Amino acid sequence: MEDIANPERTRKILKRYGFKFKKSLGQNFLTNITILKQIVAAGDITKDDDVIEIGPGIGSLTEQIARKAHRVLSFEIDARLMPVLKDTLNHYHNVTVLNQDILEADLKTIIAEQFDGQHNLKIVANLPYYITTPIMLHLLEAGLPINRMVLMMQKEVAERINAVPGSKAYGSLSIAVQLHSQVNLAFIVPKTAFMPQPNVDSAIVELVGRQEPLVTVTNQTLFDQLVRGAFAQRRKTLWNNLQNQFGKQEEVKAALTIALEAVEIAPSSRAEQLSIQQFAQLSDALNQQSIFIKKAQ
Ligand code: SAM
Repeated sequence: MEDIANPERTRKILKRYGFKFKKSLGQNFLTNITILKQIVAAGDITKDDDVIEIGPGIGSLTEQIARKAHRVLSFEIDARLMPVLKDTLNHYHNVTVLNQDILEADLKTIIAEQFDGQHNLKIVANLPYYITTPIMLHLLEAGLPINRMVLMMQKEVAERINAVPGSKAYGSLSIAVQLHSQVNLAFIVPKTAFMPQPNVDSAIVELVGRQEPLVTVTNQTLFDQLVRGAFAQRRKTLWNNLQNQFGKQEEVKAALTIALEAVEIAPSSRAEQLSIQQFAQLSDALNQQSIFIKKAQ
């Protein structure tokens, strides 16, 4: 059967349905079959896998996943694509497409309804770039037993996810993702692989879920507040950012000083110099100060 992603076939489908791309929905469809096959290969998909896809578009990637997987569940926000997908994916009886915003989806409940729980859970997607970070966080926070994720995203976000301490790209997103997953920046995809072409280059990122988070902390809310606050203004010192986050009262300053001294982190350091382990140590030290326990409840 001819691939949906074949540029000729994609054009025909778009014409038949009079489809106009919505830039506001990040609609850049893949028309390069080699790249699609590389994405699916990176997912290492077999009939033992149930796969969630975000944003099937006209089904180019969905089709390739469906040929390998046990089942595919795709979330597409754009109602105009539903009749198109019904047509293009007609032969794939293992695919379900939900006309739903992924960010609104109660993933745990939907997965329990749609999948039998007997297969590995994987996520494979060419993400809509305008909401890459919220989607990543939504997936991570859903607490799903995800075995592997393969996500196409803008190169700049991929670099942030994969960044190490001390680098410019390192930040709260690197920490949020690396806490739960091992990251591998698999390959770069040129703009020419898409219709219409996006303004930026893209990258495929592989995320393999960790059995246990990289660090465990006594107060996760406080850890999240600490990391978010520490990176709020990258040019400022840790001390300034933490005061902005937690308050400038004398008792806050005193507690901050004690905690920073206990873990031997200089107040003049910058957030990007701290490893995830150091953030965890600082969070636990803050959590021993009563004023911070109250703040992070
Ligand atoms: N998978 C297709 C491909 O590779 O050619 C299309 C990928 S395109 C980059 C992103 C898709 O995500 C579009 O079909 C868009 O309508 C859809 N989308 C955008 N925002 C969404 C959201 N919040 N929830 C679900 N789908 C969304």
